[in-house]
Amino acid sequence: MRDAVATGEIERVYVLAPDRLARRYAHQVLLMEEFHRAGAEVIFLNHAIGGTAEDDLLLQIQGVIAEYERSKILERSRRGRRHAAQSGLVSAFTTSPYSYRYVPKALGAGVARFDVVPEEARVVRLIFAWVGLERVSLREVCRRLQQAGVMTRRGSTRWYAATLGGMLTNTAYIGRAIYGHARYVSGPPKLLRPLRGHPDPCRRPSVRVKVPREEWIEVPVPALVDAAVFEAAQMQLQENRQRKRASWTGPRWLLQGLTVCRRCGYAYYGKTAPQSKRDPAKGVYCYYRCSGTDGYRFDGHAVCDNLQIRGDYLEQAVWDRVRALLQHPDRVAGEYHRRLAQTQAHANRSEDVLQLERQIARLERGIGRLIDSYAEGVIEPDEFQPRITGLKRAEPGSKSSVGRQ
Ligand SMILES: [Zn+2]
Repeated sequence: MRDAVATGEIERVYVLAPDRLARRYAHQVLLMEEFHRAGAEVIFLNHAIGGTAEDDLLLQIQGVIAEYERSKILERSRRGRRHAAQSGLVSAFTTSPYSYRYVPKALGAGVARFDVVPEEARVVRLIFAWVGLERVSLREVCRRLQQAGVMTRRGSTRWYAATLGGMLTNTAYIGRAIYGHARYVSGPPKLLRPLRGHPDPCRRPSVRVKVPREEWIEVPVPALVDAAVFEAAQMQLQENRQRKRASWTGPRWLLQGLTVCRRCGYAYYGKTAPQSKRDPAKGVYCYYRCSGTDGYRFDGHAVCDNLQIRGDYLEQAVWDRVRALLQHPDRVAGEYHRRLAQTQAHANRSEDVLQLERQIARLERGIGRLIDSYAEGVIEPDEFQPRITGLKRAEPGSKSSVGRQ
């Protein structure tokens, strides 16, 4: 609409109320000024703004109040959840860890609770026993789970070491779920190269910061694992970390975080190999190698067969290109403008995609809740059938009331 106003296509903008125009007061002022400059008239349907100084003042005050109320609602809901956590209520959480099912207030007779999912709880106990007692590696646990055909919560049979690491440190499994152990704040973009499967640069980077332990709030939930086994698993994780740190010495990699495999999209990483197996004093060769070619990262099956490359060759080749480019500043400027245009085009497109994804997520949540209510006997089969069919048929793009059910 701002573009259309700027090109003179729109003469008059009708807005229901000032707080519908912009979320922030500063943006409201900016938009009003912009529309005024372009010669477009703004009409608020809840109140006629006549253009006198008093009207302007009223409009601005409405904008400020709206912004104040919004932040108050946000703060109130944050405080509400904090209060719930302090009172030991699981309604403080928005989701439940693997092996628990979140039963919301409406279905739990007025009190939200975590129910244990027995078959998933068995998996959790197995994982803790494997790591804490058998002392196997996280990758080995991944392989075992995969072989047993155990499903993750998202319905995949592929397990990742990072997921397991998160589970093994989650004190919910010994009956103490933590509220507020991390906070998200906006931070600067830090990506050296695009993430695999994410062609767009991160548009709104947020950084997860850890909250000091004293500020954590523990909420009691059903325990699944013996405290001693949990402790043993922590020791094993600590040992893994130390072993990893010990191998951190060695060459620094010039192209670390910058090279990506063209064939499979995984990152290339630096690796050394001895020049002579018999005589270690001869030193090492440095290589860059595609992570996709390492079978051990993918349950024994490499996903790529691209070749590794000698580090000195690759670094020299990259440096030659950089030098050649620096001799032609106009090419750098051209590329800068091309990327700028591309980023803007991407931003427009991904807004649509994001909206569709949000809608799909909403529908899936609706279906999940419907199945839960059916399983709990809250609704009858003859009510259930038409609604689930309706949900499954709901196409992204057609506004449905699913999200509000
Ligand atoms: Zn590759």
